[in-house]
Amino acid sequence: MTKTVAFYTLGCKVNQYESRHLEEQFRAGGYTVVDPSEPALVYVVNTCTVTRLADRKSRQFMRRAKRQNPDSIVVMMGCYPQTNPDETAQIPEADIILDNEEKKLAFHRVEAYVKQDVSQRCSPGMSPARKESPAASPPDTPTRALLKIQDGCDRFCSYCVIPYARGPVRSRPMEEILREAETLIRTGYRELVLTGINTALYGADLQESNHGVASVIDELCRLPGDFRIRLGSLEPTVVDAAYVEKLLVYDKLCHHLHLSVQSGSDRILKEMNRHYTVADYLRIVRVVRDADPSYGLTTDIITGFPGETEKEFQESLNLIRRVGYLKVHGFPYSKRPHTSAGKKEGALSSSVKKERNRQLIKVADAVALTFLKSLQGQTLRVLPEEVVTDKAGRCCWKGHADNFVTVYGECSSAELPAEGFVEVTVGEPYSDGVKAGKELQDDRMHIL
Ligand code: SF4
Repeated sequence: MTKTVAFYTLGCKVNQYESRHLEEQFRAGGYTVVDPSEPALVYVVNTCTVTRLADRKSRQFMRRAKRQNPDSIVVMMGCYPQTNPDETAQIPEADIILDNEEKKLAFHRVEAYVKQDVSQRCSPGMSPARKESPAASPPDTPTRALLKIQDGCDRFCSYCVIPYARGPVRSRPMEEILREAETLIRTGYRELVLTGINTALYGADLQESNHGVASVIDELCRLPGDFRIRLGSLEPTVVDAAYVEKLLVYDKLCHHLHLSVQSGSDRILKEMNRHYTVADYLRIVRVVRDADPSYGLTTDIITGFPGETEKEFQESLNLIRRVGYLKVHGFPYSKRPHTSAGKKEGALSSSVKKERNRQLIKVADAVALTFLKSLQGQTLRVLPEEVVTDKAGRCCWKGHADNFVTVYGECSSAELPAEGFVEVTVGEPYSDGVKAGKELQDDRMHIL
């Protein structure tokens, strides 16, 4: 079989960033990257273990991969084997198992496996420590690139397995980040998405005076070029309103924050070991919305945390209405290994958690639509990122405004607008975003 590799990546932007680096290594090694639905010689499963559902998805994919090509080499790597080595060692479809530290060696491990240098299964902890030199970041889209600035988290929110999966904070040296950013800007990328497990903790492990992620933004803003910076997420359990207010001076920083609130109830936040109250959180919201009423806010909320009452759940819904989010990712609570929430009493049934999540998504969708309608007639600076086609094969470009609103604009060919950023007048809500002006006809609604 020809040298083909398929990546199946679950979870966060850090996983996506790491998978894309690995894709480049496999390409450089003569592999063709194919879709995971196709037969491939190698399947790389970059796992996430943030919920039980994520674990299941990895297992299901590996079964499917072996059905597609029984002779394939399946590499399972990342957070799932890292946190649950005993369980993952029993998964028959996984030929090579790598933890988070070892995943960067995936290409070399596959090559060794193919050459029969590795005659038995690898398991976490078996690999020699080996440092890879950093490569340039592969793109997220043709105009937007992920830029990893740190790894790890030491906050131990009571529901979260990530500190066990990703370990303590490790920040990339500033010079390395800047070098990579310069290469990306020179190559033509117009948006750099700062990515990390907890970007707000940037620098916590470094010797020099630490202003957190603001130091990275400050340095990046000094680089020449027509580009913008987006923060993948910012943890309100690390930063407060005063810190966020200082970020507003950076004009290259997008007017969008992913601020994970997790609950609208102070009691639940305390149970979650989140170090802020709803009032603290709303102070951050006020700071950014006072500066720009169309500032985009997105968040994550867990439904059905152990002991969450109906009233506390309603507090989460009220918070969604109050903030006016552009997007809310709702997650039914999932008991994870090692976590203190997993030992709490008051577990809710799966049907209650799912029903609350259904209600949350309904409220969040209505709130997002109101937010999108409030933008109508405004001028937004948009970065077209890809050309998409409707069912009839007609093209339009799709991109994001500074505030992360998805915008669709007419184009006559499969080429992105050459000018990079474009200014558009916001039209009606369209698909999962808005139309650029009145360009798109109504008969193209709901077709993407
Ligand atoms: S801040 Fe909390 S939720 Fe976020 S990765 Fe760290 S422990 Fe997990």
